[in-house]
Amino acid sequence: MARPKPKPRLAVWKFASCDGCQLSLLDCEDELLTVAGAVDIAYFPEATRGEVSGRYDLSLVEGSVTTPHDAERIHDVRKRSRTLVTIGACATAGGIQSLRNFADVAEYASIVYARPDYIQTLATSTAIADHVPVDFELRGCPIAKHQLLEVVSAFLAGRRPVVPPHSVCLECKLRGNVCVMVAHGTPCLGPVTHAGCGALCPAYDRGCYGCFGPMETPNAPSLGGRLAALGMDGRDLTRVYRTFNANAPEFRAESERQEA
Ligand code: SF4
Ligand code: SF4
Repeated sequence: MARPKPKPRLAVWKFASCDGCQLSLLDCEDELLTVAGAVDIAYFPEATRGEVSGRYDLSLVEGSVTTPHDAERIHDVRKRSRTLVTIGACATAGGIQSLRNFADVAEYASIVYARPDYIQTLATSTAIADHVPVDFELRGCPIAKHQLLEVVSAFLAGRRPVVPPHSVCLECKLRGNVCVMVAHGTPCLGPVTHAGCGALCPAYDRGCYGCFGPMETPNAPSLGGRLAALGMDGRDLTRVYRTFNANAPEFRAESERQEA
């Protein structure tokens, strides 16, 4: 009798992060049972103590590289992974911890820790793709559940994930939101931010603050002119881009342009 084909092996890795994206995976609940039936969850410390060592077919990587040890470890993860997908703002852009990239990390450590000499840290927090080749980047802080399931489904089907790179504005239109910027003059980063949340904040009359990071080819300088007309000065505009995705190249460039 033919032996059943082994299921693809899934691994979930953590680097510097808050674990929110891994929780999004656990939050898939019913869908996770289906996923668990289709893959062998071989390494996922957040969910299980069991560990199957060796090579993995799909690795989901959460978190950024902030320590010398992690800068080495990510190469080992890459070697052991057939497909490597980064999930969330930390893994795709360096996360909120990349604010250190604009400051003196030694000064930060001396303020935060009683014994900064015990801390081994890099001067920067960087995306996984700055260290190893990445097969797909999934944005969000945290990631959207439906997009994560699409990524895993696409992997199982051997196709490219369908994750539209357009802006939150398009999601606003699809949802029937009234534009908070046009109707109320509320500053909103939706025009430059990657879709995925379903235009959550504008649906509650709030401006988007860019937690999904930059959309494909954003025109941040153009939006900067509009935001300035709504009363934001250069300092405001620098700070608005320096949050979860501060080190994403497009957001970083705009914050530095505004700071200059
Ligand atoms: S509310 Fe924001 S995201 Fe929605 S259409 Fe207006 S600018 Fe775009
Ligand atoms: S900040 Fe923007 S991208 Fe994040 S949930 Fe709100 S609308 Fe969506």
